[in-house]
Amino acid sequence: MNKAYAEQLSIDLEQQGYSTAGAIEEADLIVINTCVVRQSAENRVLHKLESLVSLKRSRPDMILALSGCIVDTDVTDLKRRFPHVDLFLKPGESAELLKLAGSRISVEGYRVVCRRYSPTAFITIIEGCDNFCSYCIVPYRRGREKSRSLQEIEAQIETLTEKGVKEITLLGQNVDSYGHDLPGSPDLADLLQELNTVEGLMRIRFLTSHPKDMTLKLLRSVASLDKVCESISLPVQAGDDRILQLMGRGYTVRSYYELIGIIRDSIPDVAISTDVIVGFPGESEQQFKGTLNLLADIRFDTVHVAAYSPRPGTQAATVFEDKLPLHEKRRRLQEVEELQKDIATEINARLVGSSVEVLVDGRKGERWYGRTRTGKLVFFDDNIDRTGQLVVVDVRKTSAWSLQGELKPERI
Ligand code: SAM
Ligand code: SF4
Repeated sequence: MNKAYAEQLSIDLEQQGYSTAGAIEEADLIVINTCVVRQSAENRVLHKLESLVSLKRSRPDMILALSGCIVDTDVTDLKRRFPHVDLFLKPGESAELLKLAGSRISVEGYRVVCRRYSPTAFITIIEGCDNFCSYCIVPYRRGREKSRSLQEIEAQIETLTEKGVKEITLLGQNVDSYGHDLPGSPDLADLLQELNTVEGLMRIRFLTSHPKDMTLKLLRSVASLDKVCESISLPVQAGDDRILQLMGRGYTVRSYYELIGIIRDSIPDVAISTDVIVGFPGESEQQFKGTLNLLADIRFDTVHVAAYSPRPGTQAATVFEDKLPLHEKRRRLQEVEELQKDIATEINARLVGSSVEVLVDGRKGERWYGRTRTGKLVFFDDNIDRTGQLVVVDVRKTSAWSLQGELKPERI
């Protein structure tokens, strides 16, 4: 979501005549776009802000803005701690910044920037969250769920495809509850059906799905619509019923297993990723083992693991005691990472000898790279820049994180 926001903001600023600065010291405008889902992310923002005090002092005309989830409804405390910040923008807000930026740009300095669009773009289709999982700060900072209209989303995607975008990822904290607040209550499956007809668009992805909201209708759409990729992001968070209940997730380990079975039956060769939190208040060794067992049984393609971090104002931080020492949380985190590395290594190794369809994203060092429909990163050599094209790659080598192969002569 932060990527989508930053991308849109830079497009809007370019339209006003701004372009990317060579170095932070040369910038006339700096926007620090923040995430505070864990304390470690917040700490990075605080360091960054402190490091900008002297720059702002030497260049007082420069605009320094702070955006995203660190900005709560009441900014009195932030203003007191960071008086060198000119503007505070709540998640998704940019009007005030664009107004100020527009008033500062000199007409003589104006030059049209020719933007090269990446073939892949992120688009937020539903803001906020109504779920209030006990550990999560998102609903407090991003507010309640608010869907964008089908027409508005389609128009944005049509504009992007005219500029060369080939793949879009539809974003929401609970992407599968899209549309319940719109007239006629269209759902995500309806939106996918509509977007599947957009000319020039090759691939559609969506994330993140909440296990309690996933429908058969959605799974059938993924299976039947040719542009919708076989990739599902379904955070489980924990493999123990008591912990899931304390987290307020609204499903059990058993119902999660059943859902995975239905997904795999409905969408052949689907890739499934998940999120896990280790060290939730009161998580015993046995409960943690429940999470390891679930990961070993289900064998996800990707697992994003985080150590529990108490967030201000959340139920978990207020009611439960965060007793587990940091080294123990780290050990659990490492155990999940090691297990998942082995699983991903095995899953990817099975692809050696197969051919995969890759949308070329660009170049990293000497090699071209892109992703398969299932979201796997693929590297290959080529003399031609095929960014934005679909190619077929014969997989020769794999690791836990990526595939490497040779470009097949004929393109799709
Ligand atoms: N809406 C999605 C869901 O229901 O799982 C995820 C959104 S959340 C912003 C992204 C991930 O951050 C979560 O899946 C969770 O694993 C992690 N997360 C959120 N709050 C956390 C906390 N207090 N401590 C550690 N990890 C946290
Ligand atoms: Fe946070 Fe996701 Fe739960 Fe919403 S559903 S409260 S965003 S973890």
